[in-house]
Amino acid sequence: MKTTSDTGGLPAGAPSDLPRYESYSSLSTFEGCPARYGFRYVERLPGIVTPSQYAFGKAIHAAFEAFVRARIAARDSWLPGPDAATIASAFGIAIDGSGCTADEIARYRERAGPVLARFLEAEEASDGEPIGVELGFGVDVDLPGDGGRSRFVGYIDRIDRRPDGGVEVLDYKTGSPRSQADVDADLQLTAYAFALVRGGVRDPATGAALPAPARVGLYFADPGITVWTRRSADQVAAFGERLTAAVRRIRLRDFPARPAEGRCRWCEYRTTCLASAAPAASAATRGGS
Ligand code: SF4
Repeated sequence: MKTTSDTGGLPAGAPSDLPRYESYSSLSTFEGCPARYGFRYVERLPGIVTPSQYAFGKAIHAAFEAFVRARIAARDSWLPGPDAATIASAFGIAIDGSGCTADEIARYRERAGPVLARFLEAEEASDGEPIGVELGFGVDVDLPGDGGRSRFVGYIDRIDRRPDGGVEVLDYKTGSPRSQADVDADLQLTAYAFALVRGGVRDPATGAALPAPARVGLYFADPGITVWTRRSADQVAAFGERLTAAVRRIRLRDFPARPAEGRCRWCEYRTTCLASAAPAASAATRGGS
């Protein structure tokens, strides 16, 4: 019989292969609850995710991405730029294919109207030129001693070039906006700065490695606000140490459960995990099984 003490919330059984890559998402999952990391990245269990859980955010990302891609293509080919119909169409395709119910889709379409309009206003007001969207990166990370290497990978929502030649990184967020202090400490932005500083992000037009970002920011889609911040060399170095420490623990298969009601409530393994602290109602109503 499996127990939470000897499996850390994971089902007992033969060890599965460890991932060869880490990402901001896997790192933050591990730091939040190592057992959740084990479920998702080692055991690769599907978990319970209802279609509506991330549908709006994904559709908004798809719409922004389509619009900026069209902007880049128009600029490079001297064609007319995208307009409100471009972004509305991209959102519609994404949300209609999300698997949500008709009522949910209607609600999301209503919510999206002002969100897309504010994005277009922000595009109009920006003096940055988009370099790329959904830019993939990968950097090798040496582990201390004879620990070998890991690889840190990810995708950056958007990178722009400033009029002075500097580059800026932007990540889109749906949901409540966060304070300047929160954005200053945001780990995802530090992860992206780390990738740029390590030369892991390339300009799609030239293939050249992009430089360290002059600034990084989060665009909060609902209010249409961007909160900018910067990342120091010390912050970037500290991120590298944090990453290598996590990888070392992952390689030791150190996956204890870290139950907390607020965390377990939204965990996709709340009905599977033996250590779950999700409220019964949460597991029953949101779990769907
Ligand atoms: S239910 Fe809670 S303890 Fe279990 S894996 Fe998820 S976050 Fe961790």
